[in-house]
Amino acid sequence: MGVKGLSDRGRQLLLDFPPLAALREHDRKGIDEIIGLVEGCAAYKRDVALPMALDIDEQMEKEPEYFNWDMMREACKYNIFSLAIPKAVGGLADKYMISGMALAVEELCSACGGIGLALAAHSLGVAPVIASGAMAHWDTVLHEIVEEEKRGNPVLMAYGITEPSAGTDVEEPEFLEVGKIGMEAKKTKGGYVLNGRKCFISGGSEAKYFTVTAATDRSRPLETWTTFLVERDMEGFSTPRVELKMGQRACHAAELLFEDVFVPDSHVLGYEGDGMANGILIIMAASRGPVGAIANGIARGAYEHFLAWTRERRNGKRPIDEDRIRMSLADMLGIIQENRGLYINHSLVGDAVFRSAFTHPIFLSAFLIPRSIRASKPYAALLNSYYGKAFVNILFRYFIKDDEVTDMLAKASLAKFNCADNAMELTSRALELMGTDDSVERRWVEKAFRDAKLTQIYEGTNQLNRLVVYNTEIARTLKVEVPGPFKKGVS
Ligand SMILES: Cc1cc2nc3c(=O)[nH]c(=O)nc-3n(C[C@H](O)[C@H](O)[C@H](O)COP(=O)(O)OP(=O)(O)OC[C@H]3O[C@@H](n4cnc5c(N)ncnc54)[C@H](O)[C@@H]3O)c2cc1C
Repeated sequence: MGVKGLSDRGRQLLLDFPPLAALREHDRKGIDEIIGLVEGCAAYKRDVALPMALDIDEQMEKEPEYFNWDMMREACKYNIFSLAIPKAVGGLADKYMISGMALAVEELCSACGGIGLALAAHSLGVAPVIASGAMAHWDTVLHEIVEEEKRGNPVLMAYGITEPSAGTDVEEPEFLEVGKIGMEAKKTKGGYVLNGRKCFISGGSEAKYFTVTAATDRSRPLETWTTFLVERDMEGFSTPRVELKMGQRACHAAELLFEDVFVPDSHVLGYEGDGMANGILIIMAASRGPVGAIANGIARGAYEHFLAWTRERRNGKRPIDEDRIRMSLADMLGIIQENRGLYINHSLVGDAVFRSAFTHPIFLSAFLIPRSIRASKPYAALLNSYYGKAFVNILFRYFIKDDEVTDMLAKASLAKFNCADNAMELTSRALELMGTDDSVERRWVEKAFRDAKLTQIYEGTNQLNRLVVYNTEIARTLKVEVPGPFKKGVS
């Protein structure tokens, strides 16, 4: 296996991920591209994240509103905001869209779960624009993100689905059906008027663009759940507060407030009413694996600091010379590798599902049209018309099958809850073994412990993800059938 041209991190990655090395035998170019993403993130970890992570964590405990823009501006140099954006519009996502993202976020979160989340939450915000096939916004919003990144200006997105009265309820069809939904989008001439609140939105206080969900009829949330693209400067929109967080502090969890916010029809992503089927479920099916990778990154970071701690002499002895410590290190390595296996298992399935649509020549042919035309208002109007959306729907429905999405969701949820629980176990164990030592390495592990806890909560609590695995993988059928991708609007 030739590894010429790869950095030490790239070589190590192939040793750690044998399936990746095997895939590279067949597709060196594609795999080397994602290794390149990880190498970039490893450089960001070394040069940017590690030197500032502990200070940011401390600062944000004292002052929750504080935000470190330097870490975001620096991230532009490593193209981190383009990770999820398709190559067709200048981003980095290609054949291994989900694997590349997952491996990159593990790397980032091995430096700091908070900085990693601040960067990854942006890609989560981008995801609905891509997965809905809302191409009218690819050459405007996504293009702007890529171009501004080249100039060192982070243009950020955030994904808002959680509401004060509905967290778990908005992530599962049967719960949404009976959920107490506050966010409402009333149809009006030329668009919708949004009222309500979203909470705990990662990166919400910094983002310029938001992908958010609302019911057009709150008494029938499941049938009327719709995804909108909201812009920060829309009248009536604000982000009034952020939470004081226990972990992952470098990333704000913000409240989004909508007071009669007019959102034009062109900013409906997908169709009215398909926000669960073609929105949240597909996004969760794609993103829960990478959330497992976030948890694994946090666990790996704790392991790296714990290992360094074990090698330092205390009272004349080194912890690593004790068998109980050596056995714990072996357990921790096992946990990290088990987690990787789970999320890679998901992401390779996800890559195959999305690749079939996003890299298909018919889809890519749309990008043969010059960008000046693609970004024009008449072309956007065509793409936003019934027929424009139908073109993408038919294509996606042909290539992305319902049972594939269900399978992807099952693997994503399995990876998510296991990786999160395992990260909690690893960080707890390391912390216990370090005792009351006041070394800087213990501070890192203590931070990782707090960071890991949150991965059990977001992207569906671990309890919900267990139920999803039961409903999809174990019962083989969802209690509420997963409606097919892009079903609505096309007969
Ligand atoms: C750090 C952080 C970042 C976040 N970032 C975002 C973001 O960017 N965007 C966003 O939209 N949201 C975000 N969230 C919100 C997150 O997705 C929700 O917190 C999560 O879905 C849980 O919702 P909840 O907090 O309302 O808890 P609840 O839904 O009230 O759940 C409370 C408890 O009850 C259990 N439970 C609830 N219903 C059931 C059921 N039917 N069966 C069994 N158990 C059940 C849950 O598992 C949990 O243990 C974030 C949260 C955190 C902590």
